[in-house]
Amino acid sequence: MSQTASLIRREDPAPGVARIVLARPAKRNAQSPEMLYELDREFVRAASDERVRAILLEADGPDFSAGHDLVAGFYVPGEPVATTGGHRMEGLVEGHYGFECETYYGLSRRWRDIPVPTIAVAQGRSIAAALMLLWPMDIIIASADATFSDPVADFGVNGVEYFSHVWELGHRRAKEILFTGDALTADEAHRLGMVNHVLPDHGEARSFALSMAQRIAERHPFGNRLAKESINRSLDAQGQSVAMESALALHNLGHAAVAARTGALVDARGVAATATRGAKAGSPG
Ligand code: ZN
Repeated sequence: MSQTASLIRREDPAPGVARIVLARPAKRNAQSPEMLYELDREFVRAASDERVRAILLEADGPDFSAGHDLVAGFYVPGEPVATTGGHRMEGLVEGHYGFECETYYGLSRRWRDIPVPTIAVAQGRSIAAALMLLWPMDIIIASADATFSDPVADFGVNGVEYFSHVWELGHRRAKEILFTGDALTADEAHRLGMVNHVLPDHGEARSFALSMAQRIAERHPFGNRLAKESINRSLDAQGQSVAMESALALHNLGHAAVAARTGALVDARGVAATATRGAKAGSPG
């Protein structure tokens, strides 16, 4: 086991298996930009190591992730800008559009195409941008207490920046969770095909995922890579990438519309209402 970063932890639980852990449980693994870049570095390190044949993505604490850390700010000086030149700050909307292309959509999209099978383990709540860590993974294992929600339409945007809801949930259920902000239970996500397996608790989910990762790691790595790439290309042939990039543009139209009215990127009333609803549901918001 090695410790490389404060917000992300890397472990090697079995031969051929790398485990990458979101390690910010006190903030319910809210994702700051720094955390996303640390996560990216660990994914790259694991994917570049020929001994790694399967990657687990897990999270410390009772919840997988509360989403983006809106308090942490957006820009990380010195981080890559190759895709879009996006961290130039021409203005609120222009700079933020580039940031989202690069750091939100861009990183999630990169992780979808890591040439090694990836397995996520979700427990507790996965809110909004949590889905941008889970959905790019190849396989999702959930504990029975897991819930999944994308309430950000109330912030004035369409949904999270990695907009694969239609493929994950089907178009009708996707519309319902976006319009209402309601959370899916683990069993429902399993029934819809978003989750591969549901286990009674987090410990059992982790054991199950590790066992699956070990079995995958024993199989032909290039065969697995080609199987993954073939399926991802099939999704693209269905239009997934074009649809997600189109949704990202609409998402930023949402930010621009809110900014034109209020001077902020998200509707503060919607953010407050979402936090209140979370509190009523027994969550810290
Ligand atoms: Zn956004």
